[in-house]
Amino acid sequence: MLNIVLFGPPGAGKGTQSEKIQTKYNLIHLSTGDLFRKHLSEGTELGIEAQKFMDEGNLVPDRVVIGMVEEKIADNMDANGFIFDGFPRTIPQAESLDEMLSGRNIPIQVMVSLDVPDDELRTRLLLRGETSGRADDQNEEKINNRIRVYKEETIPVAEFYQKTGRYQSINGVGSIEDIFDRICSTIDSR
Ligand code: ADP
Repeated sequence: MLNIVLFGPPGAGKGTQSEKIQTKYNLIHLSTGDLFRKHLSEGTELGIEAQKFMDEGNLVPDRVVIGMVEEKIADNMDANGFIFDGFPRTIPQAESLDEMLSGRNIPIQVMVSLDVPDDELRTRLLLRGETSGRADDQNEEKINNRIRVYKEETIPVAEFYQKTGRYQSINGVGSIEDIFDRICSTIDSR
C-alpha cells in the first residue's frame, strides 16, 4: 500500500491536490472534513455533534474523528492505499493513526506539507466562501480562528512526522499543475 498524509493550513489546497493524487496513484481519498460534511448533510448523530465545532472553526473532539477514520480504513483494506487529507490534525490523532496502520502493517510513508503564507490563505478562503456555502469560510473572524487553531494544535503534528523522518514540505503557491508536479516528485522519490 501507498499511504500519504497531505498536510497544510486551511485553504492550502489539500482537497484539490488530493483529488489529483487519488486519481494518479489509485488511492482512497480520506478527507475528514468531507466525511463530516457528508454526515452533516445526512443529518446523522455524528454530523450534529460535529457541526457546532466546525461552524466556529474549532476542531471536532479526537475520539469522534478517530472512530470515523478507523471505520473508513477498516472498510477499505483491499485498496491500493490512502491519501489522508485534513487528518491527523492533533498529536493524539497522529499517534492513533500510527497505531491503526502499524497494527495492519501498512504504515504512512510520507507526509507532504503545502507551504502557503497566511495572507494568501485568508484571500483564498474568503473567495471560496463566496461559493462554497461553508459557514466556516464566510467571515474573517472564523477564518482567523482556523489559522490560529492550525498553528496551536496542528503544527506539532508536522514535528511528529519530522522526528520519524517522514516529512517533506513543498511550496504551495503557484498553478495547480505546478504544485501537483512538486507533490508527485516528492511521492516518487520517497
Ligand atoms: P479546511 O482544511 O479548509 O479547514 P476541512 O474541510 O479539512 O477544512 O475541515 C473543516 C472542519 O472540519 C474543521 O475546521 C474542523 O472543525 C473539522 N475537522 C476536519 N478534520 C478534522 C480533524 N482531523 N480533527 C478535528 N476536526 C476536524
